[in-house]
Amino acid sequence: VPEPATRTGLVAGLDIGGTKTLGVAIDGEGRLRASVLLPTVVGGHDHLLSSAVDALTRLGDRAGVGRSGFSAVGVGVPGVVEPATGRVRNAVNLGIADASVPLGEHLAAVADVPVAVDNDVNAAALGTAASLPGIDDLAYLSVGTGIAAGFVFGGRLRRGRRGLTGEIGHLPLDPSGPICDCGQRGCLEASASGPVIARRWPVADGVGPAVALVNAAVSGDAAAREILDDVVAHLALAVTLLALSVDPDVVVLGGGVAEAGTPLLDAVRAAVRRRSEIAVLGAVDLPDRLMLVPAGVPVGALGAAYLAGATVMAGEPEADVVGP
Ligand SMILES: [Zn+2]
Repeated sequence: VPEPATRTGLVAGLDIGGTKTLGVAIDGEGRLRASVLLPTVVGGHDHLLSSAVDALTRLGDRAGVGRSGFSAVGVGVPGVVEPATGRVRNAVNLGIADASVPLGEHLAAVADVPVAVDNDVNAAALGTAASLPGIDDLAYLSVGTGIAAGFVFGGRLRRGRRGLTGEIGHLPLDPSGPICDCGQRGCLEASASGPVIARRWPVADGVGPAVALVNAAVSGDAAAREILDDVVAHLALAVTLLALSVDPDVVVLGGGVAEAGTPLLDAVRAAVRRRSEIAVLGAVDLPDRLMLVPAGVPVGALGAAYLAGATVMAGEPEADVVGP
């Protein structure tokens, strides 16, 4: 076990999701040096803290530095995060509703390392930017359990005043759309999120709902095609919204639904192209600026490491760091 004060130059990134936690250790050149994948133990406050400590401990062991040997640790979680303190709330997929969990402080105290915490979409946006050299401005559109966007401008994460930036999933864009879980009618999320796709196109366990839907549509199933067209229309609307709001170099499609891959990307591009026939979007090549998150790159965990200062982009931590 290394002395607590001995920092190795390795930075850890943890991407804590509703079903699994991925941890990566990266060195000063941004190279991946170790990784772990564990099931997330969901069930509230204590489980979140112990899942994070467990993942960091195993990652430290695998990297050969111990959990206190990292120079910093970044964590991405699907919830509302107060970056200055690393406290997490409203992480419904982790079984945390009203409580505010001191994830940053706890991890910093237990592992004796500096810790930065942010929401998972921000972390993934940063990880995506880091894995796309030459692209400084991007909007990362996460389509998974929910729909939200993260923004990197000039190589830096754009969080906004209250961390609300990019929460477009509950924009009620469709007055004739279905009622959303939030109570409004016609939210983007009510038509195109992963769980909604799974409800509209039920499949056996083991296959992602978007993958199954796209496969069925491509093989000629008319009902699947109709649902896919509707999902795609909503995603195209989200892409257009991002382009008209912030005009990034690229809009990157990520999250579980994006695992449907190229057929989904092509369909969204075609729908965006049809929307682009309106004058203001006609000349901006929006369909060509739409891309999938790089295959096989753990952008959430990588981005979490970049949050904590493993940055080769800006040279300083992207997030507030909590003790020690
Ligand atoms: Zn809603």
